[in-house]
Amino acid sequence: MSIDLTGKRILVTGGSRGIGRGIVLALARAGARTVACYRTESPAVAGLREELAATGAEHHLVQADVSVPEDVERLVSTAKEHFGALDVVVNNAGVISHVPFAELPLEEWRRVLDTNLTAPFMVIQKALPLLSAGSSVITVGSRAAVIGIPLRAHYTASKAGLIGLTRSLMKELGPKGIRVNLVAPGVIETEEFETAPPEEVARVKSRYQGLTGLGRLGTPDEIAGAVLFLSSDLSRYVTGETIHVDGGI
Ligand code: NDP
Repeated sequence: MSIDLTGKRILVTGGSRGIGRGIVLALARAGARTVACYRTESPAVAGLREELAATGAEHHLVQADVSVPEDVERLVSTAKEHFGALDVVVNNAGVISHVPFAELPLEEWRRVLDTNLTAPFMVIQKALPLLSAGSSVITVGSRAAVIGIPLRAHYTASKAGLIGLTRSLMKELGPKGIRVNLVAPGVIETEEFETAPPEEVARVKSRYQGLTGLGRLGTPDEIAGAVLFLSSDLSRYVTGETIHVDGGI
């Protein structure tokens, strides 16, 4: 079954690589009009532009660092300028690092919290005037948020914070007809796997594949599937929910 999002106006953060790229392309292929952002200019941005053009759907790519308030303002203004209003906001941009807690510098804690938790707060708040009954807010969390992983205290704290944000906002925005949900990926095979040393990739794959019910890692497309569902009217009675897309980890 395919989901038709023709005409839906959607803002996505962090679209140039990985899961975000899969989400933006899947939305465009389903007919949505998209505004997506990235932090740094790279060949990935040019590649995405080409792939989006091939879909024939209206799209706008904006350089905007979602941890910077002025950039978030400009990103949301771009959506307003082109679309007038928004049907869906997807908070995907996120960062991670692996640092022992005892050595975790405050600046690194702040960088991860600013990007993963404070940025969705800013994006949703700035986009709020553009949302109305039927709109859907989707944030990409992580399966790790309620499991915990050594060396990722900052990352898991930021992703767990998104659960509280989502639960409170769904109650605050529900009376306006706005739904708020999380998609929590397990371990997803992105382009990062192509650039990492092969022996490291093999180690990560065998470790995490063995932990999943399905015996394999996920793909960006499979995360996009949940985002498409939450963007569509098929999910019109789903709010405050975390959809785990993790192959049964
Ligand atoms: P990638 O690092 O592959 O891609 C991240 C994307 O976000 C890039 O497009 C990047 O742009 C953009 N981005 C990062 N920081 C900013 C910023 N400050 N402002 C604007 N854009 C930014 O990440 P993944 O695809 O792996 O992860 C996407 C989301 O999924 C994240 O929230 C992550 O925590 C979550 N997730 C990922 C999992 C996985 O296995 N991959 C597992 C669980 C959750 P640029 O290229 O310019 O840096």
